[in-house]
Amino acid sequence: MEEGSTRGGELSELLEEIYKSTESLELGCAEINCFMCAKGGNLSPCQRLKEAVVLLPWENQLIRSLNGRAFPEISLNGFSLGFLPPEEDCLFNKGGWCTVHGKHPIDCRSFPIVPSVNQRGDLIVSISIKCPIVPSWKFTKTWVENWRRIWKVVPLEWFFFYSEVPTSPLKPIALFKVEERG
Ligand code: SF4
Ligand code: SF4
Repeated sequence: MEEGSTRGGELSELLEEIYKSTESLELGCAEINCFMCAKGGNLSPCQRLKEAVVLLPWENQLIRSLNGRAFPEISLNGFSLGFLPPEEDCLFNKGGWCTVHGKHPIDCRSFPIVPSVNQRGDLIVSISIKCPIVPSWKFTKTWVENWRRIWKVVPLEWFFFYSEVPTSPLKPIALFKVEERG
């Protein structure tokens, strides 16, 4: 992945647009007091889904600019990505609540809508079936479309990496053929 590529600028703009447009798009976790995918570590109701947090290329810079702090990073083919393994606490979690809600990563805010790719690179968008909430049509449609837009800009190797990170069981709801990426 080339950090200085034109697509990097395109992705940064897309990320900022998605952050703004989904700032107040709520799933309803707080209403049912669910912390199942929150990374609260020692809090007993937390981490039951053991979800990792995987940031998109350039997203950790956006997180830092919005919140003053950023996620730990890993290297993917020489490119830095924000990444939080399932067994580690999130620095933004206080008592089971996300202190950067509305300015939190796309991987967190789109859950339980989850992307992956098959060997061809086709995009498969799924719902994580362990989440107790059935997302509204608006939430689902928004995140299927957002992941489709992101998949058209982000190098496929990020999606191949993301698809290999363990997650709770998924039910596919949409597929987009790789030819659509152009
Ligand atoms: S950023 Fe917020 S939602 Fe995401 S893992 Fe951290 S506390 Fe949870
Ligand atoms: S996304 Fe689902 S599993 Fe995660 S906290 Fe919200 S309701 Fe619970």
